[in-house]
Amino acid sequence: MPTPFDLTDRVALVTGAGRGIGREIARTLADAGADIVAVGQTAEGLEEAAAEVRQRGRRGLAVVADVSDSLQVDAAVERAIGEFGRIDILVNAAGIARHSASEETSDDDWRRIIAVNLDGTYWCCRAVGRHMLERGSGAIVNIASMSGSIVNVPQPQAAYNASKAAVIQLTRSLASEWASRGVRVNSVSPGYIATAMTELGLKPHPDWRATWLAMTPMGRLGNPVDVAYAVWYLASDASAFATGTDLIVDGGYTVR
Ligand code: NAP
Repeated sequence: MPTPFDLTDRVALVTGAGRGIGREIARTLADAGADIVAVGQTAEGLEEAAAEVRQRGRRGLAVVADVSDSLQVDAAVERAIGEFGRIDILVNAAGIARHSASEETSDDDWRRIIAVNLDGTYWCCRAVGRHMLERGSGAIVNIASMSGSIVNVPQPQAAYNASKAAVIQLTRSLASEWASRGVRVNSVSPGYIATAMTELGLKPHPDWRATWLAMTPMGRLGNPVDVAYAVWYLASDASAFATGTDLIVDGGYTVR
């Protein structure tokens, strides 16, 4: 019997699908029945993601695009619609993190973080949102972060924190504009998740791990699938009355 979580024959475009959280989201949505357009910069990971989707009996397509470039985003969305006919679900998981003291952060680092995390999320919402509004239906899930509402320690990462706070407020703004036209927009805010992004931060600073775990009431890093299940809920009809919400998945970090 179909449940409201069933995504059979829906088409989902997932950015950052080549690895980490985005890759797990692609697998999870495919397991729920969706066809997947995997978008990112590195062809190899995207091709692997698309192959995993096809192994699950769904259609999988890899499309290379830098989400910080609106022309590349528009072209990727056009290609996805050309190949699969429509997009029902958009998940914006592409993102980057860099650590530097604010007084030393370069123009290039600041611009790149905002360009990928904030501009990229907006370009994708705009391109896919136009298409969803035309069809009168769609669900968008933006991967924000608990860093959008708390300040992580000990690592300095003001640009990242600001970009994620902006993603949460962008999500709420789009939700308000598009709610009456059938398009829902929500975000998921992970705490520390075991991915390459986290490992990259820990490599030069292994001592940060103890602080992160001590500040996470569950005492562990999350797994990408912990985030993917939250995305599944917000992408599916199970969340039909939810829009503009930020679902925090952080092992309890933000309750303290
Ligand atoms: P990750 O393993 O570093 O993966 C990031 C993904 O984003 C990669 O697939 C990467 O693909 C893609 N990407 C980066 N820049 C891109 C660009 N300009 N255009 C297209 N794709 C781009 O990181 P993750 O941990 O899975 O993070 C996924 C999302 O969750 C990010 O938005 C991150 O901020 C958020 N998040 C992560 C954590 C955590 O603890 N890991 C916590 C909170 C929020 P390429 O390598 O091909 O560029």
